[in-house]
Amino acid sequence: MATTIISGKEISKAFKDRLKKSIELLKIQKENDPNAVFPGLAVIQVGSDPASSIYVNNKKKSCEEVGIVSFSYTLDDSATESELIELIEALNVDPRVHGILCQLPLPKHMDEFSVINAIDHRKDVDGFHPVNKGLLSIGRDCLVSCTPLGCLMMLKEMNIDICGKNCVIIGRSNIVGKPLAALMLAENATVTIAHSKTNNLKALCQTADILVAAIGRSGFVTADYVKPGAVVIDVGINRDPDNKVRGDVNYDEVFEVAGAITPVPGGVGPMTIAMLMQNTYQAYLSLTQS
Ligand code: NAD
Repeated sequence: MATTIISGKEISKAFKDRLKKSIELLKIQKENDPNAVFPGLAVIQVGSDPASSIYVNNKKKSCEEVGIVSFSYTLDDSATESELIELIEALNVDPRVHGILCQLPLPKHMDEFSVINAIDHRKDVDGFHPVNKGLLSIGRDCLVSCTPLGCLMMLKEMNIDICGKNCVIIGRSNIVGKPLAALMLAENATVTIAHSKTNNLKALCQTADILVAAIGRSGFVTADYVKPGAVVIDVGINRDPDNKVRGDVNYDEVFEVAGAITPVPGGVGPMTIAMLMQNTYQAYLSLTQS
């Protein structure tokens, strides 16, 4: 059977188109309301790391595409943690802002946990706040981290069966591996999280109906890790010495064995941004309707 390419590029476009329509409708409905507020996302960047600047600009561009108002804040590398938290606290009470995103990583003199904790969890569109993490783990409604949510949405949009399937996730980070495990468990998959200390990783991966690679090592997952016909989701973004962006999966090899596979670029990456837009809209609805 031919291998299906799961195009995050196309699926994310469909998501953003739907969102754009909902926001357009909102604008029509509130046309005559002088006090109307529309979905707004505040993006904070500390310092001028070029990779962070690219991510931040892509997020602002996506806001424009779907009609979300974006507010940008750039703090100097030398800003203190208290200055950053002061800004977050002002945004927490700003009625124009429904999502607050603080681009990571932060400079070394700042404590990421304290900064994330300062964000009102109802505006935590990255889904990193401990309250959202806790709600996710007990299966309650919450803002879910964008990358794992994007992985799940791709599977759903492709009508891939998750219930009862063996899902192996390589990587146990707080932003990808762990929240994805919670999401897949909620969909009734049998989930195993593998990591750098896992014994017999290859044999474990060969049992997976759905294999997710979130490792950060270019081309790590080769064809011999993959059960024939398995669905392979590649979260990795690695810059190779030739400056090309590559995933954690050796795409050409694995394509020959897998039943379905996400490419890099054009797979999980665009879904992550689409989910950020979706989360901002969701936060807007719950903040304005409560
Ligand atoms: P991380 O460094 O926090 O975690 C990596 C995980 O991989 C760890 O749990 C570690 O135990 C595991 N690991 C490392 N070496 C291993 C090995 N040899 N065998 C088995 N497991 C091993 O990384 P992260 O933040 O979760 O990101 C993972 C990858 O996903 C990176 O390439 C990152 O750039 C990418 N990423 C992509 C998106 C996106 O939007 N597509 C978003 C976030 C992260």
